[in-house]
Amino acid sequence: MDKKLIIAIDGYSSCGKSTFAKAIAKELNYIYIDSGAMYRAVTLYCLRRGFIGDKELNMPGILGELKDIHIEFVYNPDISEYETFLNSENVEEQIRGMNVSSHVSRISQIHQVRSRMVELQRQIGVLKGIVMDGRDIGTVVFPDADLKIFMTASVDIRAKRRYDELRGKGIDINFEEIRNNIIARDITDENRDISPLRRADDALVLDNSRMTVEDQMEWVRKIIEEKFDVSRN
Ligand code: C5P
Repeated sequence: MDKKLIIAIDGYSSCGKSTFAKAIAKELNYIYIDSGAMYRAVTLYCLRRGFIGDKELNMPGILGELKDIHIEFVYNPDISEYETFLNSENVEEQIRGMNVSSHVSRISQIHQVRSRMVELQRQIGVLKGIVMDGRDIGTVVFPDADLKIFMTASVDIRAKRRYDELRGKGIDINFEEIRNNIIARDITDENRDISPLRRADDALVLDNSRMTVEDQMEWVRKIIEEKFDVSRN
C-alpha cells in the first residue's frame, strides 16, 4: 500500500519515545520529528536571553522575540539523523542538558509558544510519511493521525534510562536529580491548562517498562501490517 501515514507518538518524559519513533521512521523510510526538541530550542533561546528567572519569566521579552526564533531539523549524513538548529546554529547537544530540561516545562506552558510550535509542526505534517513524538501530537497537532501511540513506563525505569544515556555522553549527573526532574515534568505536563499531556481516546497504549526496542518494533509492525497493510522497504 502506498498511502503515507502520519504516526503520532505521545507519552511521558524519558520513556523512549524518540528511540521508538526513530526506529519506526527508519523502517518505513519516513521523516522523524522530535517536537520536544522545538520546545527545548525555544527554552535555550530564552535562557540565553536571560528571560527565565527563578520565579518569573520575562513574558514581554519572550513574546516580543518569538518571531525571531527559527527552528529547523537538518539531516546529518554522518550519523544518519536529523539535528536541531536554532537560528542556523546546531544546538542538538545543548538542548539535551539539565539546564534546558529544568525549565522547558515552564516555557512549553506559554500559549503563544505552543501555537507557534503547533503551526510549524502542522506545516511539516503536510509532507505525510512522518513520525512525530511529543505530548499533544495525537490530541492537538494531528487529531486525525493515522496511528496514535501513547507510551508510558515506570518512573524508576525512565530515570535509569535517562541516567545511563547522560552518563554515556560523559555528563556527570546525579540519579535523584534526574528522577526528580522527570516527576516534576510529568506533573507540569499533565496539569497545564493548554494541551495537557493525556492519551487521545483512540491512542494505543504501550507500556515499555519491560520491553526492548526490538520488542516494541515487533508490536508496532503487527499493528501497522494489520491496520494498513504497509509493505516495509
Ligand atoms: O520530549 P521531551 O522530553 O524532549 O520534551 C521536553 C518538554 O517539552 C516536555 O517536558 C514538555 O514540557 C514539552 N513538550 C510539549 N509538547 C510536546 C513536546 C514536548 O509540551 N509536543
